[in-house]
Order: sequence, then structure tokens, then C-alpha cells
Amino acid sequence: MQQQAKLKVGISSCLLGDQVRFDGGHKRSAFCDDELSRHVEFVRFCPEVGIGLPIPRPTIRLEKHAEQVRAVIPKTGEDVSLKLREFADRIQIKAEQLSGYVLCAKSPSCGMERVKLYDPETGHARKEAMGLFAERLQQLNPALPLEEDGRLNDPYLRENFILRVWVYGHWQALERPLKKSTLLDFHTRCKLLLLAHNQAQYRELGRRLGEQQQITEKFAKEYIESLMNAIGEPASRRNHTNVMQHIQGYFKAKLSAEQKAELSDTILQYHDGVLPLIAPLTLIRHYLREFPNSYLQSQWYIQPYPDDLKLRYGL
Ligand code: SF4
Repeated sequence: MQQQAKLKVGISSCLLGDQVRFDGGHKRSAFCDDELSRHVEFVRFCPEVGIGLPIPRPTIRLEKHAEQVRAVIPKTGEDVSLKLREFADRIQIKAEQLSGYVLCAKSPSCGMERVKLYDPETGHARKEAMGLFAERLQQLNPALPLEEDGRLNDPYLRENFILRVWVYGHWQALERPLKKSTLLDFHTRCKLLLLAHNQAQYRELGRRLGEQQQITEKFAKEYIESLMNAIGEPASRRNHTNVMQHIQGYFKAKLSAEQKAELSDTILQYHDGVLPLIAPLTLIRHYLREFPNSYLQSQWYIQPYPDDLKLRYGL
């Protein structure tokens, strides 16, 4: 199972410092531009420029008309909803190659959640919409990991997004057409990750996979959408603790009494919030080098993404 050297990740181009915003400015994200860019190949899009709007330009806002959400330029009254959705359709071939997408928060085009939605009658707004480009992107690619720049400042959300990007990248790298054996291997490699996020889904997906004689495109689509959904929230401290105690069982016959006690204590100190996740996992990886175990070494839980992103230091 080969994964491409650099995963492709879509991004709102203003987050990379491109001066494409309505006011001619940008919203550069230091994490994306300085850190994540060393590990992924960013593919940038600005939907508003993509539909032919100038820089600078009058602002767009989302308005609710009956049951429809429209993107309107209040200054001219122009409705650009269709153009924004069609832009997402136009980039779909490129979007299918992406392993994730970082969206610019609050934008009526790119915002992922809580974008202001105006009532044109009263002028009042509620933060409850999704940008129209982002919404169409998600409809076309339901398994694609999405996240917003602001939420990436939260260490738990950041880690979870990067985790999903790498898992989706593994999925995209599987040999097509998919064989059942390939998918079973993929599912097995996800086991500890799924146990940390959603045990019920691990069993349910395994059951559904076991019932398949052949892997149809429909099944594969449903499988990956369910899996991405299952790991879509950060794993709890309790679940991580359970998974690491499960891993500890594999070393039972190998470690000395002192080593076992040290590993137990480190896991419990993580559980109690005294140590970060990286501490017990470093010890586990150390013992794995000393006492190799092919099953554990195949688990993406052990090393889901490049270490130097330092994502498990803050958890
Ligand atoms: S938020 Fe989206 S549409 Fe707005 S400037 Fe950034 S990339 Fe362009």
C-alpha cells in the first residue's frame, strides 16, 4: 500500500497570503503557510475571483429568501449563488484528488459553519449558514475532510483534521478497482484509530464489510463516508487510555515488571491530564522498536502523520 509522497490539500487562497479578499487583503494562516505546507501540496482556489469578480470588490452576503439561501452583492443586487456553486462543479476533477480542504471562516463563499445569514426584510443576521462554494464542495465530496482556519488554532481540532487528511490519503492510495482483501487490510490498519474514536462504528463497518462478496463502488463510497464520519470528532482521553492499555497487553510477555509499571503509570498520568498523549505513545513506540509486532506496526494509530507536525504534544 503506497501513499503518494505529498498529499494534495485544497485551501482558500487568501489563507496562503494571496491578496484576493474583497478589500484587496488576505487572511494568511501561519500554521498552513509555514508548517502544514512543508508536508502537503496546497492547491489554492478563490471562488469569488474564480467566478470573475474583481479585487477589490463589493462585499457579498448570504440572504434567506423563502427556503433558499442566496449569495447576493447588496450594492448591485446581483445574485451570484449559481456561479459559486458552478465554480465548485468546475473544479470537481481537481477536488477528487484532494485529501482535505482548509476553508476561510465566516466567508459567504468559503465559510464552513456559522456564516451570517441575513433576513433581507429586517436586515437581521443569524450565524447559521455555510458558504455556498463550501456547501457544494461538501455535497460533491462527502468524505473529504474539511476544516476552517480559525478552528485549526484548537489543538484537538487541528490534530483531528490532520488525522482525517492522512487517513483519507491512505484511502485514495488504495489500488483500484478495490478488492475485498485490500479493503479488509485497510480496515484492520484503522482498527485502533476507530477504537479510539468510535468503537461501535468499528464493529459495524467490519460487519458490513464481512457481508460483502464484492466491493462495489456504492459500498466503497458508503464505507469511506461512514469511516470519515466515525473519526470526525477528536478522540476522548478515556478512549485513548483504553486503546493504549489494549496495546500494553501485547507487551505483557516482553517487558520486565519495572518496564510494565512505567508504561502503566505513564498511561495513567496521561489519563489524569498530567502528561500529554505524546508521552505514553513515545514509550509504546520505543518498546515496539525493541519488540517488533507486525500488527501494531501496521496500525495508523501509532504514527498517523509526520511527527514533526508535533500534534500530539498538545493533547
Ligand atoms: S474567503 Fe474564499 S472567496 Fe473569500 S477571498 Fe478567501 S478564497 Fe476568496
